[in-house]
Amino acid sequence: MTQHHPDSFILMEYSAGNLSEPHALCVRLHLEQCPYCRSRVDMLDSLGAVMMESRPKVSVDDSLFDRLLTRIEDEPAQQDPIEVALRGHRDPLRKLLGEDLANLPWKRQLGDVSVLDITDHFPGQPERVVLQKLTPGGKAPAHTHRGTETTVVLQGAYTDNKGLFKQWDFIVMGEEDTHKPIATHDDDCITLSVLSAPLKLTGRLTRLLNPLIR
Ligand SMILES: [Zn+2]
Repeated sequence: MTQHHPDSFILMEYSAGNLSEPHALCVRLHLEQCPYCRSRVDMLDSLGAVMMESRPKVSVDDSLFDRLLTRIEDEPAQQDPIEVALRGHRDPLRKLLGEDLANLPWKRQLGDVSVLDITDHFPGQPERVVLQKLTPGGKAPAHTHRGTETTVVLQGAYTDNKGLFKQWDFIVMGEEDTHKPIATHDDDCITLSVLSAPLKLTGRLTRLLNPLIR
């Protein structure tokens, strides 16, 4: 069971179909492994259907939304939530990339870090979409963010100043966040990140890496 979940706002936008395709992919990958969030999305889908039928239109403020979430979490799911959550994509990343993670054409950046920019798989999207691989125990360069960075851990785990992030955890970093991920020692750590604005590297390797993670 993952420990770090998308917040209610992200799930609401996902349910409404408002997320960009890269962000929706991050949510989908998390949902595939997280029954807790699948039930939340299931409820939101039901809520959306009710709202579409309602006359006159109702608006949902945060407190109503939280009450509904609390209520639905106490109830058993009425249908297989994965069918709702994945919407026909049982392995969306494999489908997108056409390869297993291990066989991708990784580009080595530093001793510990390999990256693969997969932005081209999302034509017309403004975000950058990047896979990053850290060797076991490997360190990523410290960086802040000019926008937000949404990350899903696909394999392995890493730690930073905010805690331990394991496979399928969902992390959103904002402008105020600086971090320096370090992979745990048991496996390569592979993450998928969607960058709404370029990273701003803060460490001594800034000049070396900025052209690569721009
Ligand atoms: Zn979750």
